[in-house]
Amino acid sequence: MLTFYLLVTLVIFLTLILLIVLIGDLPNYRGTILHRSHIILVDEIFNEFAKKFEIIDKNYLNGFFTSKQSKRRIRWISGWIIPVFYLAVFTKFLQFFFTLTFPQILKLEKLSKTGFDWSIRLNFVIIPAIAINYLSFLLAVLSDPGYIDTKKPYDRTQYVKLLEEFPFDGLLFFKDKSCSTCKVIKPARSKHCGSCDRCILMFDHHCIWLNNDVAYYTFRWFFIFLCSVCFVFIYGAYLSYYSLMMYIKLEKLPKIVETSSGVTKYWRLIKNSTFTNEISGIMFLLCILLFPLVGFFLGETIWSVYLGVTTNETAKWDHIHNFMEFKVLYQFLPNDNSPSTFLLLKEKTADGKPLFITINDRLPFNTTAAGNLKGINDWDDLANIYDKGFWSNLEQKLFPKKFN
Ligand SMILES: [Zn+2]
Ligand SMILES: [Zn+2]
Repeated sequence: MLTFYLLVTLVIFLTLILLIVLIGDLPNYRGTILHRSHIILVDEIFNEFAKKFEIIDKNYLNGFFTSKQSKRRIRWISGWIIPVFYLAVFTKFLQFFFTLTFPQILKLEKLSKTGFDWSIRLNFVIIPAIAINYLSFLLAVLSDPGYIDTKKPYDRTQYVKLLEEFPFDGLLFFKDKSCSTCKVIKPARSKHCGSCDRCILMFDHHCIWLNNDVAYYTFRWFFIFLCSVCFVFIYGAYLSYYSLMMYIKLEKLPKIVETSSGVTKYWRLIKNSTFTNEISGIMFLLCILLFPLVGFFLGETIWSVYLGVTTNETAKWDHIHNFMEFKVLYQFLPNDNSPSTFLLLKEKTADGKPLFITINDRLPFNTTAAGNLKGINDWDDLANIYDKGFWSNLEQKLFPKKFN
């Protein structure tokens, strides 16, 4: 029975740690308890430990672990730990399901003589769900998320197509900006990923679960994978519960189980009967405990599609929001219908004249040219040009175009 408690506690503990490491640093969670835990766990404890270890390694082991080359190797290996761990745990539980829980359901169904044909559920629900889970996971892990080739820059036609798909809004993304690390001209909505050390089209976030970026070409796999994990948890919980319920109904129960009722009865059945029931109980609990977590991710992902933003852009919109709150954001609309420029109010001169800088490169901007100056204090004054409505946003993310 010790293994039961140990396993459940271990999985919950690991999940919590993973969650903090995985998403605590994402812009959506700035200032929350997740972010604070991330700072404590990663920035303070882990990095402190890493620094001490590096000193010891340099002094006594000639930098065996912390030389540049071994650091790269360690980073490569550690990147694969989580995806491999997930695959191993998922596969192990599937093995439990197919060798213990599922045969028990079949056996009890036979006893109950309800005559339900389980091969239908197996062939049309269980096996497809598992196949989709594995397939979308592997595609999300192994696909090119949208790396921008530094050696083969886009030619003119490709660039025109790119501009069509990712226009510059002059607010979050600006024309002719190049990446300071890989020196390529960055299309709008792209970002340099620090972990992969490359620029990526429509970058959302670097996902530790996948050891890959969720971006233009991988968002669809990530999304399908999240949906399929949610489904597996719901259906897995149902099947595990069903197996336990049928056992209580049809099998001879130990006295301690027989005499109790309600939740206690199930709890005692898990703890005090067969190994199969113990495993079904563990699967039920894990599905129930982990579902809200993954469901929350899925909800957030759908919400970001609804808003027409990427996780990366959320941080940029936060900045814009701060500018609006401080009433320093302005838009200059020239009379000749040329593109508008977003400005920040830097200060006011002694005679009360406002001084503006461009939001792009923070250079002084002359607002005396012919045009209108509009203060932007509200989301209503501002349009997110990347938000084309939920279904169009979803279509763009599920059916990305090819540019080369
Ligand atoms: Zn990355
Ligand atoms: Zn770059």
